Amino acid sequence: MQEVLTHLLHAQAIDQRLSVLQRRLESLPVETAERQASLSALEVELEQAIHERKTCLARANELENQVLTREVRIDRLEKQAVESRDPAAAQVARHESGELRKANSTDQEEALEALERAEALEKDRQKEEEAVNAARENLEGFQAQADQDAKDLQAEVDSLRLQIDKELDAVGSQRRGVFETLAKRYPGKAVVSLKGDSCGGCGTRLVMNDQVRVKAMKSIIRCPSCTRVLIPAEVLSAVADAAEEAS
Ligand SMILES: [Zn+2]
Repeated sequence: MQEVLTHLLHAQAIDQRLSVLQRRLESLPVETAERQASLSALEVELEQAIHERKTCLARANELENQVLTREVRIDRLEKQAVESRDPAAAQVARHESGELRKANSTDQEEALEALERAEALEKDRQKEEEAVNAARENLEGFQAQADQDAKDLQAEVDSLRLQIDKELDAVGSQRRGVFETLAKRYPGKAVVSLKGDSCGGCGTRLVMNDQVRVKAMKSIIRCPSCTRVLIPAEVLSAVADAAEEAS
């Protein structure tokens, strides 16, 4: 019976390694997706900088055209003011040209600000473009490595599954079924030691007769509460020590 329990413990140890590898395997696509998301966010920022710069340049252009149109009108009004024989009409023309000059000065200021903003955005754009390229390279590098890692991990997972199969083949199909059910419910903790007089899994105290039967190892004894397989503590540590020496 000790041999059966040893096989179960080996299967359990392999199963623990298996679940670590499986978690790593599952984390790879998650990490790829995270990198993809940060690349997409950078691409959006870059697009925004490009779009905003275009808007600024268009606004500056529009303002400059307005200024030019007003300048033509100002020239005409000033000519009228000089040439007019009607002082009231000359006054009106001068007043209008004065207003147009004010409007031009405001627009020129705004156009200058828009151009300065476009210049700053051009610098941002260059920086963001570099960031996008770096993130893209990072993603591509990670993906290539992740594909290789996934292949290696999968091969290791397959090999561990075969090893578990071998261990469990040795205990018979009924015990195998019990172990597999327990392993699903308590990953890595299907077989536990008797701690003092209690189950090492759930802490339930065992009656004396069950404690004696666990220690005798004549059959598989399960905790009356959590149904885990119980073994003497020294057997568990001996198997763990042997596994450590072997690795
Ligand atoms: Zn228990």
